[in-house]
Amino acid sequence: MVLRIGIVGCGTAGQAAALFLARRGHRVTVFEQAPGLGPVGAGLLLQPTGVSVLGRLGLDQAILALASPVDSLLGTTHRGRRVLDLAYRDLREGLRGYGVQRAALSETLLRAMLAEEIRLEFGTTVCGVGPDGRTLMDAGGDAHGPFDLIVGADGARSRLRACFPGLVRRDRPYAWGAVWAICDDPDGRYEGVLRQVYRGTREMIGFLPSGRGAPDAPRRVSVFWSLPTREWPALLRRGVADWKRRVRSLTDAAEPLLEQIDSMDRLIFAPYRDTILRPSYRGRVVFLGDAGHSMSPQLGQGVNLALLDAAALSDALEGAASVGEALRVFDGARRRGTAFYQRASRWLTPVFQSGCDPLAWPRDALMGGCCRFGPTRRQALRWRWRG
Ligand SMILES: Cc1cc2nc3c(=O)[nH]c(=O)nc-3n(C[C@H](O)[C@H](O)[C@H](O)COP(=O)(O)OP(=O)(O)OC[C@H]3O[C@@H](n4cnc5c(N)ncnc54)[C@H](O)[C@@H]3O)c2cc1C
Repeated sequence: MVLRIGIVGCGTAGQAAALFLARRGHRVTVFEQAPGLGPVGAGLLLQPTGVSVLGRLGLDQAILALASPVDSLLGTTHRGRRVLDLAYRDLREGLRGYGVQRAALSETLLRAMLAEEIRLEFGTTVCGVGPDGRTLMDAGGDAHGPFDLIVGADGARSRLRACFPGLVRRDRPYAWGAVWAICDDPDGRYEGVLRQVYRGTREMIGFLPSGRGAPDAPRRVSVFWSLPTREWPALLRRGVADWKRRVRSLTDAAEPLLEQIDSMDRLIFAPYRDTILRPSYRGRVVFLGDAGHSMSPQLGQGVNLALLDAAALSDALEGAASVGEALRVFDGARRRGTAFYQRASRWLTPVFQSGCDPLAWPRDALMGGCCRFGPTRRQALRWRWRG
């Protein structure tokens, strides 16, 4: 069957879904509120599962050419005690993750979309679904469609999801988020390792090698600073010198990056949400990526899950007798893996980001031990990096 499909959101989930579905011969239209895709966003850690989905789209080599390989995760306290020390190769020789700039991923996917017959409606904010369940209503009051299938890929604060309150089992903001900046790494000092430094649970800084925006562009690194959402306005008010002082009191590892951050305009705050839908569809509308299951990025899985969702939806439609049957199959295929990461990030996030410092003692004592002992080390690797 050839379906008319409307996709809301041109982030990773929407882009990958558009590519898979257009290549299966469906007639795809993508609605994106932004007027175009700009060079916005920090680095993302692509896990092997995400890379394999990009491989199915024939885009892995193009993206990996711009990415920085990440072989291990190293988390230490500010005193240098090892809390996390995990290497991909301990799971399988040759296995690695890749740090990539969000813009590089998005531009590569967009270029591939432009080579397909996909209709792109930039600058269109979708506000809801019409009473027939098949049309999309935009902010100007215009209706689009009808569609045989609507894909909600409009991110963590999905407006489309708000039209289906009966599906939402949980939708809460986390009290903590992260301030991030992306800086040059000319001598490759940050390459190879995703590094984090903690003091208790209240302070954390992370460095993710983030590859290049273009083949001849400089190599970059993303820096993440943990922060309670309510403290962001005060951090902005106190200014960049105060923030740098706090970073320097935690670690000197950020020094080359602090030199490049000359104002608070270089820092962006990203809040997180915890959203569960049961099931992930209603009628002809299905939710992918953060719209369907936003979570804290503690485990670095959001983009990977978005890619896996897109592939699973396309597979479910292949051979299904109806849209309803395909959505049931899709929901069954994705539910367990997604729920696992949501639970794990819900439990782990307060251990790294909360006002509860006593949680840091068992964390520092137990996690370091688990990372040294072969069987628990391999289990931790499987949990972190399976699909
Ligand atoms: C600080 C931070 C670090 C992260 N690090 C990682 C990491 O290392 N690895 C990883 O895998 N994940 C990471 N994530 C998570 C990852 O960024 C998300 O899970 C992923 O981007 C989700 O993709 P998406 O396509 O579902 O949503 P989005 O990327 O949010 O895309 C949604 C799109 O929909 C558009 N849109 C929204 N509303 C509307 C509307 N009403 N009408 C039309 N268009 C609309 C938006 O403009 C946007 O383009 C991180 C997240 C944060 C906050």
